Amino acid sequence: MKIGFIGLGDIGEPIASHLAKEPFELTVWNRTSSKADEFARNHQARVAATPADAVRDAAVVITCLPSSAEVEAVLHGDNGILEAIRKGSVLIDCTSGDPPTSRSIAAELGGRGVEFIDAPVSGGTAGAKSGTLTVMWGGDTTVFERVRPVIEAFGKKIVHAGPVGSGDALKAVNNALLAVHILSAAEGLAILAKAGVDPKVALDVINASSGRSNTSENLIPQRVITRAFPRTFRLALLEKDIGIASVLSEDLGAKTPLIALTAERFHEAREKLGERADHVEVVKIVEEENGVEIK
Ligand code: NDP
Repeated sequence: MKIGFIGLGDIGEPIASHLAKEPFELTVWNRTSSKADEFARNHQARVAATPADAVRDAAVVITCLPSSAEVEAVLHGDNGILEAIRKGSVLIDCTSGDPPTSRSIAAELGGRGVEFIDAPVSGGTAGAKSGTLTVMWGGDTTVFERVRPVIEAFGKKIVHAGPVGSGDALKAVNNALLAVHILSAAEGLAILAKAGVDPKVALDVINASSGRSNTSENLIPQRVITRAFPRTFRLALLEKDIGIASVLSEDLGAKTPLIALTAERFHEAREKLGERADHVEVVKIVEEENGVEIK
């Protein structure tokens, strides 16, 4: 099965690595071409010169870009996907996108006989490397069945969320919860540090108690206490996800002040820490505001 893959970023690159083998025939395109060349040196894949060239012969096209805006750009740009995508093919968008844009892309592709599913992932770069991502997809079941082997090559828990856009909605809310967890854990540990309780002792108790979360069990011990702060998932992308959840909430008339406040805090953090900062680095802002270090 011929696959065209667009976007070899932090999560796209390890996803693509699972598709660079039989029974797949992989062609990759990346905006910064050196990354695609490097990928082809290490994997069985052809490098395309343009998005159009990457999808021309493909039965399945995968996009994995920062947001739906970039998906729109590679669809409509010069030498974009739309110029060359084959009737009867399926576009799987692994971007954590936004539901309205995914629905409009699906409608546009549908008019050309191309199917679309939104299929954002969770599990981080570690899950992508081990091929054990959770995939939450939106779209038609008959379309999914045609591409199931492709998604199973990198996903372990694969869940149908509903019609097109539902995968994006679920992903945005999941990540809004992640953002709330990071900020709340950092604030709680800042209080305790000020109160003279060692953060490691505090985590030992919290992680055996009802206040625990993936943030307290994994992110803070592995990334904050160690001061390692590895860059695996950009804060800018998490800020984008909470923004999607906030807009969705507003559109639906839901009352979600905690998510709104978290969106505001991450927006400020993005401005302060920049586009390359990792999502967990928001903890540094809480530390600075409170004059403590969580270590
Ligand atoms: P990165 O920022 O690491 O990579 C983004 C990719 O998109 C790169 O290949 C980049 O190309 C390309 N790109 C950016 N802008 C454009 C553009 N205008 N036109 C064409 N290509 C462009 O992001 P991730 O790989 O981390 O994330 C991809 C998606 O997956 C996001 O929606 C993110 O929210 C989601 N995600 C990420 C996770 C993670 O742990 N990193 C976990 C789960 C979901 P170039 O190399 O030239 O910059």
